[in-house]
Amino acid sequence: MIRFEDLVEKVRSYNPDADIELLRRAYVFSAFEHKGQVRHSGEPYLVHPLEVADVLAELKLDGVAIAAGLLHDVVEDTLTTIDRIRELFGDEVAHVVEGVTKISTIPFSTTEERQAENFRKILLAMVDDIRVIMVKLADRLHNMRTLHHLPEERRLRIAQETLDIYAPIANRLGMSKVKNELEELAFKYLDPEAYQSLRNKVDRRRREVEGVIDELKQEVAGRLEEAQVPIVQIDGRIKRLYSIQQKLKRQNVELEQVYDFVALRIVTKSVRDCYAALGIIHQTWSPVPGRIKDFIAMPRPNGYQSLHTSVISERGFGFEVQVRTEEMHRMAEEGIAAHWKYKEGREGAHSDERYFQWMRQLLESQQEVRDPREFLQNLKVDLYPEEVYTFTPKGEVKVLPRGGTVIDFAYAIHTDVGHHCVGARINGKMMPLRTRLKNGDIVEIVRSARHKPSRDWLSFVATSRARQKIKHFLHAEEKARAIELGRKLLEKEARRFDLATKGLLEGEALQKASEECGFARPDELFAGVGYGRLAARQVLAKLVPSDQLKEKPQTGVISAVRRVLVGTDNIKVRGADDLLVYRARCCNPIRGEKIVGYITRGKGVSVHSVECPNVTNLLYDPERRIDVDWDKGTEPGRYTVRLTMQVEDRKGILADVSTKIAGINTNIKNVEASS
Ligand code: MN
Repeated sequence: MIRFEDLVEKVRSYNPDADIELLRRAYVFSAFEHKGQVRHSGEPYLVHPLEVADVLAELKLDGVAIAAGLLHDVVEDTLTTIDRIRELFGDEVAHVVEGVTKISTIPFSTTEERQAENFRKILLAMVDDIRVIMVKLADRLHNMRTLHHLPEERRLRIAQETLDIYAPIANRLGMSKVKNELEELAFKYLDPEAYQSLRNKVDRRRREVEGVIDELKQEVAGRLEEAQVPIVQIDGRIKRLYSIQQKLKRQNVELEQVYDFVALRIVTKSVRDCYAALGIIHQTWSPVPGRIKDFIAMPRPNGYQSLHTSVISERGFGFEVQVRTEEMHRMAEEGIAAHWKYKEGREGAHSDERYFQWMRQLLESQQEVRDPREFLQNLKVDLYPEEVYTFTPKGEVKVLPRGGTVIDFAYAIHTDVGHHCVGARINGKMMPLRTRLKNGDIVEIVRSARHKPSRDWLSFVATSRARQKIKHFLHAEEKARAIELGRKLLEKEARRFDLATKGLLEGEALQKASEECGFARPDELFAGVGYGRLAARQVLAKLVPSDQLKEKPQTGVISAVRRVLVGTDNIKVRGADDLLVYRARCCNPIRGEKIVGYITRGKGVSVHSVECPNVTNLLYDPERRIDVDWDKGTEPGRYTVRLTMQVEDRKGILADVSTKIAGINTNIKNVEASS
């Protein structure tokens, strides 16, 4: 079991000026907070943060990262708050701990490849300090090393998640040492039988080739010395089990046919020496065509550089050779961590600046890479600000454009969910429809069957899908209203001419009249009348012989449309007494509110609140506005009004609200509350 003093020694060995006091305080605090907690292994919990800090020290990271490693589970697993951490250990440490804590709230769930890619992106997107990822990877590494203590179900889940999410992230950051260990452990726990059987086979093969590897190493060393190519080291190694297994699966071959089962790694002093060494290797053994790769001139997207070749020895033994400089070697093993390392005088510098500088360098050095943007995109969402990654409560990822709202999210799930959504619980809190979502938000849509899309939604949705669905709905609804209105107008007109309405607006005659007016079906004809495209009288003229069209004498009945009861209040329309007036359903203005009228196409005047977004919106033609006013001559009526209130969740709030409402002489008919 590692001790704190071992950790201090390790940190001092590469960073003599490290703030040991900070580490000691973090250690003592962590020990105090985790006191009494035990791991599944039965060990005191403190072992875990210590081991995580040790992995970080192994990567030679700075004091902030290591302190954060010691504290990484304190906020999640104890009563300590992030503010307390900030108070005691400063902004930087608190920021990293907070980032790690946030990641652990993501409900990673699926193993579908596309989803896994989204999870990787979201994880990286939530991170604005690369040390957060470092600590998280170190945390996962230690958890994987101690996985055998967990029950099988959790073991499988964690191993799968490691393979899907964390190993690829380590790979993307070029940290192959961490990636390799994560993959090996995940393979071992996910498929113990396959792992063991492959291991046995590889062990047999290893015994066969071990002598050969030594011979090859000596021969290479001799040749290079002869040619005066200085060498730092030569390693011979056997491919890792997980990558052998992948290869066997992918190429459907036997172990004996794996070319790079054995690899020699030559580390040189300069790039020139790398190419020189490669030349000598090719003079010594025959290269396998198509296996020579120059990752020095064309680095992999994660920054990996090396020369690769596969050769066949005189005895027919095939193996791979990798040639790289010391710097490239460090980069290959540690990736981004190699750049993050503590360097004298740099500790405490602004993290992002260093990070971005590193990325810029990386990008500049690899212009040959087909799509460097891809690398960037996967690293940090802020560098590609167009997407936001959000979750359903079940952990499914929904990718929205930046600025995407609750409504966009709802339509991304299903059209019906969008049509009926009234709000959402975002990370457990009720939020309004127009709320813009942030990376990592967990969104649960709240629906009501009675609720319908409103035109003002169009003013803030961000996805074309939502926009299209809303428009489609509004259009259909408008049309249904137009059909109904058209039919009513026709009936009214018919009564004016004293025609029997029964049987008039149906049957073959109507179909024929529709076609004569240029509509395919009677519904279209009604809609045409409703929209005001043609007059009811024109239609009647097609339905009835002209001699029957005799207007009924006016009986002095007040035209029903002159003063239409709205609620129980009248609305006056200035200078236009015979217009159909109705309260707009979107804003439902109440007596006393400032109102404005809008002349619809064939549907009379709709009266909106002046604040209604539908009116203020440019969607409406300003020329169609008309002045309206409440008819002061009548008594104010009583209405049923729906109020939606969002209030702070505190004791007695409901009682306070109802007291206020009772105080203005108003009854409550129905209350729905949710927190
Ligand atoms: Mn942990």
